[in-house]
Amino acid sequence: MAEAPALLLDDIRRRIAAGGPMPVADYMRLCLTHPEHGYYVKRDPLGAGGDFITAPEISQMFGELIGVWMATVWRQMGAPENFRIVELGPGRGTLLDDALRATKKVPGFHQAAVLHLVEVSPTLRELQERRLKKTGLAILWHDRIEDVPGGPSIIVANEFLDALPVYQAVRQEDGWHERVVALNADGNLAFDAAREPMQFFDTSLPRALRQAPLGSIYEWRADSIALELGRRTRDEGAALIIDYGHAHSGLGDTLQAVARHAFTDPLRAPGQADLTAHVDFEALAQCAETMGARIHGPIAQRDLFLRLGIKERAAALKSAASQEKAAQIELAFSRLIAGGARGMGELFKALAIGAPKLGALPGFEKTP
Ligand code: SAH
Repeated sequence: MAEAPALLLDDIRRRIAAGGPMPVADYMRLCLTHPEHGYYVKRDPLGAGGDFITAPEISQMFGELIGVWMATVWRQMGAPENFRIVELGPGRGTLLDDALRATKKVPGFHQAAVLHLVEVSPTLRELQERRLKKTGLAILWHDRIEDVPGGPSIIVANEFLDALPVYQAVRQEDGWHERVVALNADGNLAFDAAREPMQFFDTSLPRALRQAPLGSIYEWRADSIALELGRRTRDEGAALIIDYGHAHSGLGDTLQAVARHAFTDPLRAPGQADLTAHVDFEALAQCAETMGARIHGPIAQRDLFLRLGIKERAAALKSAASQEKAAQIELAFSRLIAGGARGMGELFKALAIGAPKLGALPGFEKTP
C-alpha cells in the first residue's frame, strides 16, 4: 500500500510522456478507479477514521427516510411483484441497510425486491455484502449501470455522481481550450490548457455562458448516467439522486481533493485523495428528460427531508434515547438540514427522475 501512490504517479507520468497532456477527466478517472492503484479500489474512505463522511454515515434517519420514499414510490408504481432496487455507489451499504430496516413491515415490499449494486470497489463490495446479507434479499453487483437488467426499478444514488470524471474547458481570447494535466519543466504534474481551441465548443454551452470572461472555467460530464437514469425510469420506475452541486449550469472550477477530512491539492499524491466535482443538476435533468422521463426538482436536501418527516423521526428517536444519545441525534439532524457552509441542507440537492405516469413523487409535491 505504501508505495501505491508513487506507482500511480509514475503511471500517469508515463502516459503523459507518451501520449501528451491528458484531459482532466482522464486524470480523475485514473486517480479514482485505476484497477490497481485507484483511490476507491483498495480502501474504505468513509467515516471518522477515513477521508470523508457522508449523510448515511452521519445518521440512520437519512437511509430510513429514503426507505420510506422507495416504498411509497413502489406503491405508486402499482406495487409490482418483481422489481429492482438499484443503488449507485453504495459505499458501506449503510443507506440500504437503514432503508430496508425501516420498510420491513411494508407488506410485499421486500419479497418483491432484488438489490442491484453498482460498485467499482472490491473492498466496498465486501463491506456491502457483510452489511446487507442479513436483509435476506438477493444481491447482485455490477461494474456499470448499463449492466443492470431492465424492468421496474427504483434507483438511488447519494454522493455518487460527484465522483464521476469531469471535463474542464478554459476560455481564452481565441475560444475555449480543454483543460489538461501536463508535466511542467520539473517533471511535476501541472494544469495546462490544450494549445488549440475546441472548434464550435460555444454551441454546446448554455447561451448565457457563451460570452464568459477570459479565464472562466466550464465543467461538463460525458458519461451515460443521465441517459440511463431517464431510459430506465421513464416507463416503470423512479430515481432519487442526492449530491452537492448547482441547480443551474454555471462557470467555475469545482474540482476538489479531500483526504483525512481536509482539502488538498488535486495534483498531489494521485490516488491518495478523493477527487470530486460538483454535479450540474440542470445538465443532468435536461439529459434524463430527453429520454422521456419526468424531472422533479432539484430541491434542497433540507426540503426533501423535512417533507419526508425527518423532524418527527428525530423526535421519536430522541424520546427513546439517553440524554447523550439525544444530543447526538440533534447534532446529526442539524448537520443534515442546516444551510450555509457547515450544514448539508442547502449545498446538497435532491433530484428525482421518474415515469411521467407516476405523477408527483414523495417530497417533491410542491415543485414543478
Ligand atoms: N453512497 C455512499 C458512498 C459514497 S462514496 C454514501 O453515501 O456513503 C462513492 C461511492 O461510489 C463508493 O462506493 C465508490 O466506490 C463508488 N464509485 C465511485 N466511482 C465509481 C464508478 N465509476 N463506478 C462505480 N462505482 C463508483
